[in-house]
Amino acid sequence: MDKKLIKDAFTEAAGKQAELLVDILDDKKYMNEFLIAKKLDVPVNQARNILYKISEHGLVSSTRKKDKKKGWFTYSWKIEEMRSLEFLKEAISRRMDQIRNQIRSRETREFYVCERCHVEFNEENALLHDFVCPECGNVLTLKDNSKLLKEFKKNLEGFEIMLNTIDGEIGREQAIESKKIKIKEAVMKRAKLKEKAAAREKARKAAKKPASKKPKKQTKAHKKSNSSKKRKK
Ligand SMILES: [Zn+2]
Repeated sequence: MDKKLIKDAFTEAAGKQAELLVDILDDKKYMNEFLIAKKLDVPVNQARNILYKISEHGLVSSTRKKDKKKGWFTYSWKIEEMRSLEFLKEAISRRMDQIRNQIRSRETREFYVCERCHVEFNEENALLHDFVCPECGNVLTLKDNSKLLKEFKKNLEGFEIMLNTIDGEIGREQAIESKKIKIKEAVMKRAKLKEKAAAREKARKAAKKPASKKPKKQTKAHKKSNSSKKRKK
């Protein structure tokens, strides 16, 4: 499990506070919510609130157990790694789309700026104000977008790298999962073969026994039907 990526996913879903859960929770075993709260050093209700928030996106899952003495349910939680990775991937893809839109907008449209107030206007708004800042009366100047574009493109590259890392991690997880399935299938196949062999052996033994019950039954039934036929006549 790549903890850094899972932390990013949790933060995306429920804020920075949720990140701490990644160091506490496991992705295989469930952990009791009271223990989680204790480790987070927060009241159990606060821990629950964060857990519910993340679980809305499926990044954690839970099982519940009824407390026999108190009669209420306590929940235990674990990390859903695959779903967390997919969630993060979706979030990053959305952000990349936004950046691409901004790049397109900066490349095709003109923006104006008041260099005194550092306020920006798009072309329509600049025209509306006759290219004069409505705050200070300063004449607006055409904005040089090159620096901003460079920044956008750099951000985009960063996200691209992150996306590749996530894809790599997802691929690794899928490989582990399919390996598990293959092992399971092989075990089941072996069990089935064993079962068949046992059934064959049983049949063979049954065939060896000279007078088994089955043929007797058949003759009985045969006799019965014969006699009933006779009676009918
Ligand atoms: Zn101004």
